[in-house]
Amino acid sequence: MFKQAPSVATGQQNHLLQQMTTENVYRAKLYVRFVIVLEILMLLRNFYTYGVSLHYYVILYLSFLAVAILTLVFLHTSERIAHIHQRARLQHYYLMAFYSFTLFWGVVVTLIDQSSYGHVTAYLTNFLVATVLFIVSRRSFILLHFFPTILLIVGMFIWQENTKILTGHFINITIFFIFATLGSRVLYNNRVRTFSQKVLLQEANQEMATLNRHLHQLVLRDELTRIPNRRGLYEYIQTHTTTPQSAAIYVLDIDSFKTYNDFYGHLAGDQVLKQVAQAIDTCMQEKGYFSARFGGEEFVVVALQVDEHTAQEIATCIFNTVAQLHIPHEKSVCHSEVSISLGYTLGTIENQATLESLIKEADDALYGSKQAGRNQIQRYKKE
Ligand code: GH3
Ligand code: MG
Ligand code: MG
Repeated sequence: MFKQAPSVATGQQNHLLQQMTTENVYRAKLYVRFVIVLEILMLLRNFYTYGVSLHYYVILYLSFLAVAILTLVFLHTSERIAHIHQRARLQHYYLMAFYSFTLFWGVVVTLIDQSSYGHVTAYLTNFLVATVLFIVSRRSFILLHFFPTILLIVGMFIWQENTKILTGHFINITIFFIFATLGSRVLYNNRVRTFSQKVLLQEANQEMATLNRHLHQLVLRDELTRIPNRRGLYEYIQTHTTTPQSAAIYVLDIDSFKTYNDFYGHLAGDQVLKQVAQAIDTCMQEKGYFSARFGGEEFVVVALQVDEHTAQEIATCIFNTVAQLHIPHEKSVCHSEVSISLGYTLGTIENQATLESLIKEADDALYGSKQAGRNQIQRYKKE
């Protein structure tokens, strides 16, 4: 039950103090309201019994009332401090001072009481309130209680002459002290534990979110070429065409790729795919356009908001990018190096359906390129 509170990372200390102070401030507000009502009642009772006089009890009640009102005002106005850590620190120090005052107050009343009633209720009540309502670290706890306790012990020896009563008081206070301290520590340790668990949970959640983002990115990329895949293309269209967009769509296909694989081997074919994909993707990204591996040795490029002239320039650019790789291909039916056939079209994209119909048009144009001998560009023409 009295387990050590788990340690909190240095970076989280401020956060913990801030959370605890928020709770402590909330409790203190309730407490001082209660004190204000209680002290007013005590004052009224005093005036009723003894008339209006500045008896030292009256001065004590008035001082507690004044400090309670001041505390209420402070706690409300301090809420306006925008910097949360600064605010928490200030409120914490203020509450330390406030509860110190209540403890000293309780000690003074208790010592005065020794000459008349002889009980220790005032001290014990304020001690209980300070331990249960004000949840603080062990260091603050010791700092808070050390001086009032010393004053109480010394004062009791001086002002309580009856040894029997004195012994009884010390036994009562000690038992009370042990249990209240135990309660206070359990509350503090639980609070720290809950906080640490929350931090761990938040960290785990953040890791999950990062992992999710990472996974999402992985799902949208083609494993071999590292450029977006078909799913990546649809995602791009979805995010970039919330309003209808004019676009040029390109479909390109590596010429005689089957014979390349057959002659140079499948692994060499993979390398060609990578090289071609990377070259096109880098070049298109630089210009602000999008490319994806659509399947096999076919790629799609999307260029949004381009006119006919630019669309034609992009087609030439894609074509030249592959040509400039100068990858030998002895078995190509159309050239001595790896080449592509390219088809493109212009239109408006509103959604996946319009994208697909534009891809179909570009694919028709690509078919035209293939039919006309490969290693060339054709634009889609309506029949
Ligand atoms: P065409 O000029 O008419 O396009 O002829 P082609 O040989 O390129 O066309 P075809 O569709 O007959 O062959 C495509 C080849 O692409 C077949 C397949 O082995 C190859 N291919 C598809 N995906 C991959 C891949 O991931 N790696 C490798 N190495 N080859 C692939
Ligand atoms: Mg091909
Ligand atoms: Mg093909």
